[in-house]
Amino acid sequence: MLEQSVLEKYIRAGQIAAKVREEIKNRTREGMPIIRICEEAEQMIRKLGGKPAFPCNVSINNVAAHYTSPPGDDKTVPERSVVKIDIGVHVDGYIADTATTVCFAPEYEDMVRTSEIALEAAIKKIRPNMHTSDLGSEIQKIIERRGFKPISNLTGHQVGRYLIHAGKSLPNVSHISFNKIRAGEVYAIEPFVTVRSAAGRVVDAPESYIFRLVKRKSPKNAEAKRLLKYIESRFRTLPFAERWLKNDVSLGDYQAAFLRLLSSKCLMSYPVFVEATGKWVAQSEHTVYVDKNGPVITTQYE
Ligand code: MN
Ligand code: MN
Repeated sequence: MLEQSVLEKYIRAGQIAAKVREEIKNRTREGMPIIRICEEAEQMIRKLGGKPAFPCNVSINNVAAHYTSPPGDDKTVPERSVVKIDIGVHVDGYIADTATTVCFAPEYEDMVRTSEIALEAAIKKIRPNMHTSDLGSEIQKIIERRGFKPISNLTGHQVGRYLIHAGKSLPNVSHISFNKIRAGEVYAIEPFVTVRSAAGRVVDAPESYIFRLVKRKSPKNAEAKRLLKYIESRFRTLPFAERWLKNDVSLGDYQAAFLRLLSSKCLMSYPVFVEATGKWVAQSEHTVYVDKNGPVITTQYE
């Protein structure tokens, strides 16, 4: 089981994430600059006493995940779109990961609602010592019964200190695995739903706007070394946006060093994920602490 002080940090992170999710959901409008959504969410997290655990993701229509604004982004929320807003907060490294879908397209409301219903059902079902495959089967069954399709290669995941994807995955489909969920573990549960005629999987788009430190091997180049130190001390192993480097004026001209760190694989990049057949996607996500007596939703809005 988790120590009380650790659980309190998970819950504090969760409360901040829930507040930011609801506030940003209410503010989002067609035509709004995406960079404004990202930056307001991240500022709100800091103002409430947390830190972003990853850049605010705003993934629209066929984009399923991992879009955050690059520096100077001029994209806006399209009319009649389906907008996934994914918020990450940490308190002392303890993470809350939560997402919601804002729907400006009435014909997709049922798909969005299906991701919410699948999430609620999965939270009701999760308990210590259950197989992850049983949870995946349940999520898939609920989504298909409502006439939609789960995304088979995007999963929920265990979270750990300064780690977004720690240990076990929670697929949204039936799968072969002997993994069991244990009491004391913390999971992000996140059903992704698309239409029945879709492939039901995502592929990498060519662009990446989110990055993460992967190895501490020291580069020879002095500027690259300095930037790596900065990244390690500010973000540790958590994902960050290039925007965040650009916005820190003390860093100066970081771009050549940044490219060096990418090509030497000191940093990894997260490609934007798009549905393989271009179909639209909805997502709902909560972070849950699996207590021996049942689940505690850390990202519940109160
Ligand atoms: Mn998320
Ligand atoms: Mn997640």
